[in-house]
Amino acid sequence: MPLPLVWLDGRLLPLAEARISPLDRGFLFGDGAYEVLPVYAGRAYRFDAHMDRLDGSLAGIRMAPPLDRAGWLDVFGRLVHGNGGGDLLLYVQVTRGVEPERFHVPQPGTRPTVFACVQRLPVVATAAIENGVGAVTAQDIRWGRCDIKSTSLLGNVLLRWLAADAGATETLLLRDGRLTEGSSSSAHVVAGGCIVTPPQTHAILPGTTRGVIFELAGREGVATERRPVTEAELRSADEVLIASAGGGIRAVTTLDGRPVGDGKPGPVFRRIYAAFRATQREFSTELPA
Ligand code: PLP
Repeated sequence: MPLPLVWLDGRLLPLAEARISPLDRGFLFGDGAYEVLPVYAGRAYRFDAHMDRLDGSLAGIRMAPPLDRAGWLDVFGRLVHGNGGGDLLLYVQVTRGVEPERFHVPQPGTRPTVFACVQRLPVVATAAIENGVGAVTAQDIRWGRCDIKSTSLLGNVLLRWLAADAGATETLLLRDGRLTEGSSSSAHVVAGGCIVTPPQTHAILPGTTRGVIFELAGREGVATERRPVTEAELRSADEVLIASAGGGIRAVTTLDGRPVGDGKPGPVFRRIYAAFRATQREFSTELPA
């Protein structure tokens, strides 16, 4: 649930007073992009990586960034401190804005709608870290530009629902016999001690936590590779890891009801997870008061 103060179109206001027109293109067409970043102890985690990705998503849908880095820092600072700081998850939604006529093709000069809010960072249960989580697989039914963090999330919603139906945490997606990612996470397999994750193409989101895994693996001396991962490699992996801003890094220990490896979080997960926890402050940026 969002905390009481939100940012909408240039000002901080109570959520109960925030209003967006039904003619907003974000509502009518899902015409927008968004970002989600963790805030640890009031500091924005991987701020530049998230802002680079937002700029990339906006460029992908032919929109200019509504704010520069200093502008975003200022907004995030007001939002985070205004809501009392702490460990939060910060959402930024940017839509193409409100237009009087419903046309597919946007009109020039429309002012984007910019909304941001924070909620408490979900606490990942100790059991989920110690025992890992369950995942199911499904065919990746999403569109051809999954590298854009689009507000049109219907494919992800329907796919994630399959995990919920099965009492699992995540749905891992397969396209043409290869792993793409999770419905709301990046996916990695570990084989022979090496972390393998699909290459960055239009088929997957450039995950910021995946970037963290690669950086930490480099520091820890764990080998990494970016190359296509077949369904057979996924099913026979020693370990499977999922990563996201909201859920952090987690081990998948059952896949479609069968154990992954020996069915427990493996040594690569434990090393990377410890490094992830130890670097949260180092990898985050102070927000202006
Ligand atoms: N892939 C998808 C489809 C996602 O929705 C997410 C996060 O929500 C990710 C990957 C992971 O990206 P990040 O680590 O930046 O949260």
